[in-house]
Amino acid sequence: MSNYFCPSPFPSKENQMKIILTALIMIMVFTGCTPVAREKGVPITEKIISEMSVAEEKKEAVEPVTVVLPEKKVSVRVGIMEGENEILFSCSGLFTISSKGKIIFTKKKSQGSWKITDQGHELVFENTDTGETIRVENDLIFRPDQISSYVKIGKVQSGKGWHWENTRSRSYKGDIEFLNIGGKITVVNEVGIEQYLYGVVPSEMSSESPMEALKAQAILARTNVFSKVGRKYKDKPYSLTSDVYSQVYTGIDKITEPTSRAVDETRGLILTYKGKPVEALFHSVCGGYLESNDVVWSSAALPYLKAKPCSQSGSFSYGDLKNENNFRKWINSTPDSYCNLNNKQSGSKLAFAKKYFRWEKRYTREKLESIIRSTTGKNIGKLKDISVISRGPSGKAITVRVTGSSGSLDINKELNIRQKLSKPPLYSGNFYVEKNNSDKSGYPSEFVFRGAGFGHGTGMCQIGACGMADKGSNFDDILEFYFPGTDVTELDK
Ligand SMILES: [Zn+2]
Repeated sequence: MSNYFCPSPFPSKENQMKIILTALIMIMVFTGCTPVAREKGVPITEKIISEMSVAEEKKEAVEPVTVVLPEKKVSVRVGIMEGENEILFSCSGLFTISSKGKIIFTKKKSQGSWKITDQGHELVFENTDTGETIRVENDLIFRPDQISSYVKIGKVQSGKGWHWENTRSRSYKGDIEFLNIGGKITVVNEVGIEQYLYGVVPSEMSSESPMEALKAQAILARTNVFSKVGRKYKDKPYSLTSDVYSQVYTGIDKITEPTSRAVDETRGLILTYKGKPVEALFHSVCGGYLESNDVVWSSAALPYLKAKPCSQSGSFSYGDLKNENNFRKWINSTPDSYCNLNNKQSGSKLAFAKKYFRWEKRYTREKLESIIRSTTGKNIGKLKDISVISRGPSGKAITVRVTGSSGSLDINKELNIRQKLSKPPLYSGNFYVEKNNSDKSGYPSEFVFRGAGFGHGTGMCQIGACGMADKGSNFDDILEFYFPGTDVTELDK
């Protein structure tokens, strides 16, 4: 493997200054956490009547509210790997290494690569270059002694079951904990919030995006730390995962100058509704119409996550998208919307997203039968029909009926439907199904899913945010449009 390092053990003078400056900034940012309502920026897109009315409502709702946030947080614990038998890693820089709260080494410069194996009652760390061996029962924690120190871990899996699934080495700053849990290895990265955000923003959004869209993304990612930590994973040694179920975090490998600048220039800002951090949802491309959260997750409807067109006009010429004919007309067209990249300034940089605005997925009947059998565990025989029998306001499939020669099956819920009907899952729940070349008995040889958008369609449409930024909107405007009635709030110094 080519992942191993032999770095300088001491920080240069320049780095020493950086360390001091960074420490001062950290102290300034994290001492005290009394939030105050932040003065809103002036919307540039003044002409939009619907947005102006939203802004009016927002002022009234927010002014008297005292923001009460969860307990002060300076770092976050992120689950990187779990249930592993063997892990390879290497270290760059100096580390303090401890186990069960006792320090084993300080300012340790670890050369070469390490292999950890879990042998049930203990973790065995073997340095494959020097032959050094460390045995611990419960944990081994690497705490960096230098700002530049990081740990590189081999074969970290990302996006399991999704289009972007991959396995590669990833590097992390902050503490890396190797834990022996039930005879398997769990890896946790405890990292400062802003450092964590440096890793999240480029993992969740293209660094080619306009700066104001990146800033909106940074604020949502920071908000997620405050709204999600402590709600899930209570029986785990971490409070967020590094995948889409929390938000994607890939350590330091993807960090870019623009995404870090977006984090720095929004330092301390989160999005709140009536004084609490919002459900900071976002997705890649809505396809032209945003969905309400209760349709996607069957949770209580949130006032700032309602279905509406992802466009400035406010008018929508296709009618009610729950109606099948209206919906098909809309899918078969390319409606003007913030996330329609045609003729957009950032269109060329974000060309990858064009294929998601309108898409199709084709399967032979036999292939689709086999997928549905494996994803549902049910055999309905020869596949005859797939029809959406209930849709949400954006046309999202809520219930799909699959009919075969030996029975039928109803599949419910947006993500579940996407996962059951395709491998990898369909880009979105906004689709209808076309059947081709049906035989005399009505069994088609091919099924075609025709759809719009990528992701759940709730909250901020990332490509739409880029479209808004291209038109001159700032991050305040973008967040007002996608989360009407909310407020950008500063965690005060
Ligand atoms: Zn959109």
